[in-house]
Amino acid sequence: MIVVMKEGCTKEQVDRVVHLIREMNLKDHVIVGTERTVVAVIGDDRYKDRTVLESSAGVDRVVPILAPYKIASRQTHPEPSVIPLGGKLGTTVGGRRICVMAGPCSVESRTQCLEVAHAVKEAGANVLRGGAFKPRTNPYEFQGLGEKGLEILAEAREQTGLPIVTEVMSVEQVLLVAKYADVLQIGTRNMHNFNLLTAVGKTNKPVLLKRGWSAKLDEFLLAAEYIIQSGNPDVILCERGIRTHEEYVRNTLPLAIIPAVKRESHLPIIVDPAHGTGHAYMVPAMCRASIAAGADGLMVEVHADPEHALTDGAQSLTPKAFAEMMKELAAVAAAVGRQV
Ligand code: PEP
Ligand code: MN
Repeated sequence: MIVVMKEGCTKEQVDRVVHLIREMNLKDHVIVGTERTVVAVIGDDRYKDRTVLESSAGVDRVVPILAPYKIASRQTHPEPSVIPLGGKLGTTVGGRRICVMAGPCSVESRTQCLEVAHAVKEAGANVLRGGAFKPRTNPYEFQGLGEKGLEILAEAREQTGLPIVTEVMSVEQVLLVAKYADVLQIGTRNMHNFNLLTAVGKTNKPVLLKRGWSAKLDEFLLAAEYIIQSGNPDVILCERGIRTHEEYVRNTLPLAIIPAVKRESHLPIIVDPAHGTGHAYMVPAMCRASIAAGADGLMVEVHADPEHALTDGAQSLTPKAFAEMMKELAAVAAAVGRQV
């Protein structure tokens, strides 16, 4: 349930509500908004007597929620969240400006990564992406450069000023990846890895949470809830396509999740049409569609020589195609009151 305090309630009244919640063996999460303070009650409150809270001074109403995610819900936090990514450029996700994350699928070498980093920066990208630890279906394929890849990404950040987002695959890797990355990426295969969600939730780095390819919307938001509940409010959702019967695409990209997330949650959502389609030729159209539908950002794979990329070449744009796409996106963004 959520306790909505009356406008102008006192701090003592909020403290009393917190005290009552703790007496019920439940946890509290106080959110002070510009006009209202609300207290989210965390834990199984289905059998608790909410009249105790309803009759406490300063309480306007107590709203039981069916949605199991509470802190990620729009009900507890009506205004959309704007997530700061750190770095010199003051990059954020969730505001008026569309945040474009671009770079290679994998960091393959220093030359390859730096070349793409400069090209995407030049074309207007806001964040550099690149995998150092790669979750590969086939154990005999390229697994990523590991820490060496993180060092290369850090050098690319140094040279371009772009914050970096890179995947962390296991609990043991969290401290290492957090030492280098500005944003920790949780891949689609790990969305249900609750120990990993809790571990990144204990860091102070923003988390890019990719939707599991068979996860439903409420499971996606509950995964975000794990991270926030562990102490880290800076979660960016990422739609990257789901598994369906279709074969003309690598995954099916359900853009209807954008308005659905906007209705259910205050968290920003970005779209990854590279993994969402698997084909470079589809990426620009799906990027335009994502922005038109209200996405807060994009994640795009870019490679100077896609034919020889070690991973995901077929869905990677060349730097030239990326730069052309960025120009087209500016017009779409302007049409929906956003900016690239
Ligand atoms: C990636 O971003 O390179 C990646 C592996 O993505 P996903 O987890 O969505 O497959
Ligand atoms: Mn990839």
